[in-house]
Formats: sequence, C-alpha cells, structure tokens
Amino acid sequence: MKNSAKVVVIGGGVVGLAVAYNLARLGVKDVVVLERAYLGSGATSRCGAGIRQQWGTEMNCKLAKKSMDIFEEMNEMLEVKRDIELKQKGYLLLAFSDKEMEQFRKNLEVQSKFDIPSREVTPEEAKEIVPHLNLEGIVGGAFCPTDGHANPFLVTEAYAKAAKRLGVEIYTYTEALDIEKKNDKITAVLTDKGKIKTDKVVNTAGGYSQQIGEMVDLELPVKSERHEILVTEKVAPLQGPMVMSFSYNIYCQQTPEGPFLMGYGDPNEPESYNINASWHFLEEMTKKATRLLPPLKHIRVVRQWAGLYNITPDRQPIIAEAEEVPGFYMAIGFSGHGFMIAPMTGVILAEMIADEELSMDLKLDLGRFERGDLILEPSVV
Ligand SMILES: Cc1cc2nc3c(=O)[nH]c(=O)nc-3n(C[C@H](O)[C@H](O)[C@H](O)COP(=O)(O)OP(=O)(O)OC[C@H]3O[C@@H](n4cnc5c(N)ncnc54)[C@H](O)[C@@H]3O)c2cc1C
Repeated sequence: MKNSAKVVVIGGGVVGLAVAYNLARLGVKDVVVLERAYLGSGATSRCGAGIRQQWGTEMNCKLAKKSMDIFEEMNEMLEVKRDIELKQKGYLLLAFSDKEMEQFRKNLEVQSKFDIPSREVTPEEAKEIVPHLNLEGIVGGAFCPTDGHANPFLVTEAYAKAAKRLGVEIYTYTEALDIEKKNDKITAVLTDKGKIKTDKVVNTAGGYSQQIGEMVDLELPVKSERHEILVTEKVAPLQGPMVMSFSYNIYCQQTPEGPFLMGYGDPNEPESYNINASWHFLEEMTKKATRLLPPLKHIRVVRQWAGLYNITPDRQPIIAEAEEVPGFYMAIGFSGHGFMIAPMTGVILAEMIADEELSMDLKLDLGRFERGDLILEPSVV
C-alpha cells in the first residue's frame, strides 16, 4: 500500500469511484480509494438503480439531465467490456390528488427549460403507457421517455476499471480508521493496513459518512435509515417504464432481464444501521404493488434485501468542501437518489478538488443547514 497520496477517497461505492475516475481524468496523480469491503458493497449494489430526470428544482433537473447524458455515453467513455445495461423506457409518475398534479405541472415547466422530454399524461394516456395499471384514484401523471435504469454492479465496475487504467489505486478490504490533523489541516488517513499521508480526503462513505465526519470533529447533519427492496422471478416483458408514486412512496420496474424490482419508503422506519430484510416490508410491498399493478400478483418473489439511505434534513446531498476543515470534501446524504446523479457528482467534486472551473453551479454546501437555506425539492421518494 502507498504511504502517501494526493487525495484519499474513503468509500468505494459508485460515488467514490466516479470521483476517483474524474480526478484521474483531470490529471490528478496519486489518487487512492479505500473500501472496507468489496466495491459497491454499500447502498450501490443494493439499490433500485433507477435514473430519473423529472425533478422540481433547476439544479436537480440539470444534475439529473447531465448525469443521464453521461450514462448514455458511459460505455464509450469508460471503455467498458460489458455494457452497463442502460434501459431508457421512461418513468411514469402518478398523481393521486389535484394538488399533486398541480405540483407535477410546475415541475414539468422547470424540466422543459433543460430539454428534459417529460410531459403531462391523463389517466387514460397513463394506461396506454402501462396497460396493466389500475387507474383507481389516479388523477393524472407525468412521463419522461428517456428516464430509465442501469446495472449498478456494471456501472461501479466500469468506473473502477477506468479509474485504475488512469492510475488510481483501489484498496478493497481496507478500512479508514481515523484521520490525523495538525493545526486544523489534514495530514494523514489511518487504515487497518497502515497510514497514508495526505492533505485531501473525500468522504464518500454512504450510510457511514457521519463516522468519517467524526474523524475530523465534524458533526454532519446526516442520518442513516434502512430501505427495503425486492426482486421477482423473470417473466416475459410486461412493463416498459418505471412506475412511481410519491404519495404511495412506491416504485416498481421490470429490469431488462425480466425480473420486477420494487421498493417503498416506510414512513415509520427509524434511524439505524440495520440492513436486515423484514416480513412487514414483504407484506406491505406486495399489497401496494398488486393494488397498483394487479397482474403482478401472479409473479413470485425470489429475494428481498435492504440497504441504507443516507439522509439530510432537506433530502438533498452535500457535495462540497467543509469550510471548517480545509481539504475535507464530501459527497454524502444522497437521500435515496445517489446512483442517478453519481456521474455529475463525480465530475463536479473532482473539479472542486482539482481547483478547476465547475461544469455547473451547485448550492449543496454544508453550511446551508445552519443558515436555514434548505433546498425545497418537491419530488423526493
Ligand atoms: C433499497 C435502495 C434503493 C435505492 N434505489 C435508488 C434508485 O433507484 N436510484 C438512485 O439513484 N438511488 C437509489 N438508491 C440510493 C443509492 O443506492 C445511493 O444514493 C448511492 O448508491 C450512494 O452511493 P455511494 O457511493 O455514496 O455510497 P455506498 O454505495 O453506500 O458506498 C459507500 C462505501 O463506503 C464504504 N465505507 C464506509 N465506511 C468506510 C470506512 N471507514 N473505510 C472504508 N470504506 C468505508 C462502504 O463499505 C461502502 O461500500 C437506493 C438505495 C437503497 C438502499
């Protein structure tokens, strides 16, 4: 293992690897990634891997659209051997009240400024898009045909391999234990395999980002929460788009291989690091999904699992350098949508670290919580 590095990235999920790849792409030498288990072992390999561009704030629309542009070029950009399995069959968002529909209309106006090809749909049009949809209670919806899904294992592997080709050293089964500081400046990262001298650390530890903050005496405003998900047996193609409802807190899609993947956010889930699967989820999820998409009741569930959401008070990430600790960067608190914006997160955080001009303006600093400057994004599951 190296004993010094220009930048040490803590966390080998999709975000940490995207940051490392982009740093190397910008010519930063001596980048190290520490991952305490295998690459993608955190939320990344457990996620639904949906990619949505239908957001309600300008910043999120831009982040999501530019990230989708990168996903579309990723096979060539990262010179992959295995296609990342990007499927763009759309996201159908369902409104169950006039108020919700009103919000969708406002969001659509914002999305149109960024060439996101989303549109309003009537219940009947929604049924044309997803013929097995139960329309009961649905007042309308929004559809974006270029939203989609990619394989999170293959995307992670693609970033890791491309980063390695550009000289990044990735140490798996290597845990960051502490960060040393002298006169408020970072001097080294201590790992279970030895010390790496550095003055720049990137916290991309997902559900464990708070512990990394504690290593530099920062109390980060993030909490972790279990989110569960299940997969069914493979069936013949039935559903193109992801079907999603914010008020039901549910998402359900068929992956290109044939299985359905679905999850929902339990409003009573406490803050914890618990990633055990529960019977309660299985019951609730199957009830909700078969009410909305009745033919699914004939399909067998084969597996369920859980992962951690890392959540901030405004459910928007923190992508910034900590003002209090120069050299301590963060891309954390993705609140359940970090896979879809990982490509642009990697680009922008790498630009910040390399002191380059930013590809887009971000207002995702840590100080916004103390200032009360929260981001009001209406479209979070
Ligand atoms: C059930 C579920 C469904 C989801 N669905 C979607 C979706 O459809 N679309 C979407 O965009 N997002 C989704 N997400 C969110 C998405 O998975 C995350 O936002 C994203 O994967 C975050 O990536 P990351 O690299 O920041 O974190 P992670 O993938 O969690 O990676 C962090 C890594 O840091 C490592 N680590 C932690 N502490 C240390 C340490 N001390 N030393 C070394 N390594 C350490 C961990 O082992 C882990 O591998 C979902 C999440 C869950 C749980």
